[in-house]
This record gives sequence, structure tokens and C-alpha cells, in this order.
Amino acid sequence: MPADFVIAPPAIVAVPVAGGGTFPVRRVFCVGRNYAEHAREMGHDPDREPPFFFSKPADALVTGGADVPYPTLTSDLHHEIELVAAIGTGGADITVADALNHIWGYAVGLDLTRRDIQQTLRKAGRPWDMAKGFDASAPIGEMVAVAEVGHPANAPIELRVNGETRQSGNVADMIWSLPEVIAELSRYVKLAPGDLIFTGTPAGVAAVVRGDRLEGSVAGIGTVSAKIT
Ligand code: MN
Repeated sequence: MPADFVIAPPAIVAVPVAGGGTFPVRRVFCVGRNYAEHAREMGHDPDREPPFFFSKPADALVTGGADVPYPTLTSDLHHEIELVAAIGTGGADITVADALNHIWGYAVGLDLTRRDIQQTLRKAGRPWDMAKGFDASAPIGEMVAVAEVGHPANAPIELRVNGETRQSGNVADMIWSLPEVIAELSRYVKLAPGDLIFTGTPAGVAAVVRGDRLEGSVAGIGTVSAKIT
């Protein structure tokens, strides 16, 4: 590391791994509208508009079930429960057949969204960054290694708010399967070890308020929890 940094270098963002160790994060990519029922609830026809990508800064991640402060400049903060894939081996133009070999592990994450700002930006044809990439917008649970749990194939994905089920789906219902997500994304960017991919959310997104407790899970993978403060 150079000794002549003119300010203190930023910390490496890392996600704890179940059973020990930490996974260092490079970039956070997200898939938009990757479940048909969610695309419809957002006013889109999944048969006519394919999923797409956006991103969040790595330091938007919140680990360890830490509290999430209600963000500024919104009155419509939404939850989106998502399966997160962690890239261990990078590459460009990855094939669908080879894609799963690039995954080191998985986690469960929340793609918190300023829905009101997103709708305004969407109507204006402007970038979504300030609707999606704000501070603490990506709570994430412990990571598990593919070597330990394999790949989720037919796994229920759920989110409960204050104990009440709000989102309930199955990762098998993604429009772009996980291998297709990786293959498609790797045509746009050269994936690198440390990249995370939030793979989209099932239907049932809704607003949360201060004091709400969010608990999400993907069967066989893990959980994520957050309290909005
Ligand atoms: Mn999302």
C-alpha cells in the first residue's frame, strides 16, 4: 500500500461469513424487475420489458443486523428482499453453462429503495442512484460458501415486517435465472472477485416506518435482519 495517501484510505467493506472469515466486497450490482409479479406491481409488463442492471456503492452495505437509519428526503422507503450472489472468480463474457462456477457464496440482502424518488426519476428519465444507492440502503446477512450449501434452486424467499409476512416467493421464479444474470452482466462489465449481485425481488414490496423490524430469509442460504430507526 502506498505510504503517500493524502487522506486516510477508505476501509474495505466486508461481509461476515457464517462459520468464520469475512468476504471483501468490491462492487454491488443489482437486477431490476427480475420477478414477473413484482414487475407487474411496479406497472410494467415483464413479457415486453426484460430485467436490467443498476448498482449501489459497496459502503451502502449494512452488516451484523445493525440498525438502519430512516433515510433523508423520502417518505416512502420500501423493502425488497433479495438473494445475493458473491463472485469469487471474475471474468467477461461468461457463458450460462459456466456461470455458477464463478460464485463463491450467497447471502440474503435488502435492496432498500426511496420509492417516491425512484418514481420521480423514472418519469424524468433520470438515473436511479439517489433512489437506490443511499447510505445504509443494503442490509445483508451472513454469507455462506457454495462449498458448504451448494446453489439454491427451488428455495422460498420471504420477508416479514414486525412478524407479518409481506413478501413470499421462490428464487426459481426469477425471469433471468442466476446463470443468465451472471452471463448477461459479464457482457457489460468484467466481473471481479468481491463483486456482489442482488438478484431482484419478488412481489409484495411496501413501505416501512421507523421502529419496524425486518426479517428476511432464503431457505437453505440464511437470513437478514434490520430495524429501521
Ligand atoms: Mn431490487
